[in-house]
Amino acid sequence: MLSRSRQAIALISDHGDPAAEIGKEEAGGQNVYVRRAGEALAALGWQVDMFTRKVNPNDAAIVQHSPHCRTIRLVAGPEQFIPRDALFEYMPQFVEAFQAFQAKQGAYYPLVHTHYWLSAWIGLQLRELNNVQLIHTYHSLGAVKYLSVASPSNAEIRLSVEKQILEQADCVVATSPQEQEHLRTLVSQTGCVKVIPCGTDVDNFQVVTQAEARTKLGLNLNEQIVFYVGRFDPRKGIETLVRACALSKARNQGKLRLVIAGGSSPGQADGLERARIKQIVQAEGLIEQTLFVGRLGHDQLPLYYAAADVCVVPSHYEPFGLVAIEAMACGTPVVASNVGGLQFTVVPEETGLLAPPQDAEAFSIAIDRILADQKWASLLGSQAAARVREQFSWCGVAAQLSELYRCLLARSIMHDLPRRSPWPSGSVKAHLSRSTKVAPAKMLGRA
Ligand code: UDP
Repeated sequence: MLSRSRQAIALISDHGDPAAEIGKEEAGGQNVYVRRAGEALAALGWQVDMFTRKVNPNDAAIVQHSPHCRTIRLVAGPEQFIPRDALFEYMPQFVEAFQAFQAKQGAYYPLVHTHYWLSAWIGLQLRELNNVQLIHTYHSLGAVKYLSVASPSNAEIRLSVEKQILEQADCVVATSPQEQEHLRTLVSQTGCVKVIPCGTDVDNFQVVTQAEARTKLGLNLNEQIVFYVGRFDPRKGIETLVRACALSKARNQGKLRLVIAGGSSPGQADGLERARIKQIVQAEGLIEQTLFVGRLGHDQLPLYYAAADVCVVPSHYEPFGLVAIEAMACGTPVVASNVGGLQFTVVPEETGLLAPPQDAEAFSIAIDRILADQKWASLLGSQAAARVREQFSWCGVAAQLSELYRCLLARSIMHDLPRRSPWPSGSVKAHLSRSTKVAPAKMLGRA
């Protein structure tokens, strides 16, 4: 039920279902971010409805996370997993389903916060249809991504939507100063940008002693544990980590243990990447040293972070990188690629070390420096935990988001912006097909 005593807001995360199992099939940081932001905002007094696309007919249409925070799954296209690169054509159906949901509930969301460029497109339509205050977070920026990977067929549409949303949204939330810089240099000089970082649950990700964590997990107390957790995706650079560990193995007198965590499904893209990584592990002679522990929930993850001597985030590109701050919150130093948000969260020589992406030799040297000096490693770990508590706790981050929402809503009331009916007199379909700049079929050249 929608609460009448609270201001309702909508978070839209087209493909990142906040209620999904994290760690497989593209479910990662965006899902975690939206879910945690939603729950924390509800705790601050908002009624938070998080909209996503339904990917399984057996999934519940509504998942209630807390009394004032829920995930609403809208039917937009086939109820099955579709990779995000193939989702754009279903976005008009998402807009229609959103409008129908509002109409059915007799609800109106005056503020919409969208996540990822596909949701940005939805937000731009809702701005026209419903006159909402529109806030956007990119999570991943095509303009940066396509500098290092081949552009998919829909790259042009994505870049165009990324520019439109920056220029037209009431505010874009960048999660690091590095992202803000990329927006200004690669996307547009126009539009309002505010930096509000991603957060983490510092009550869950806490410092536990390494010995206690290893004992609970049944891990050897005398080994040197290098830990990776995340999706199996070539962009995550797990290959670099494996090759770095192979270089480090010789220098660590047989004590090195590589633990790789993350879910995967056979036959899917993440299953194929896991199989590829396993082959590299074999080719590098690391089979005995490597443990694949599968998907881990946030209940188990703190123990794994605490058990590790070092957590490695070897991504080719990372807009923010939640894993780095989770590990840091648990008092574990991080070796990360010198890219994107990782340059913001990991302070070199203070909370961990940075290395150039895809440079196995540089990663190996950085990992070895930390493994070789336990005293220094524990100083890095305690400084890391302090940094997360000061800058990246969910509480603080949600308070900043809440303040931004409050200001935007107050401004819209003060300026007495004309409120349209939340659903226009003509049908939503009519609007979507009228809107030349937005009809996906046309943009894809299929009309
Ligand atoms: N994660 C998890 N279990 C796993 C793998 C990943 O809970 O087995 C979580 C991880 O703890 C983090 C998120 O997935 O909260 C990954 O976010 P990040 O920003 O590091 O990467 P993304 O997936 O967004 O590229």
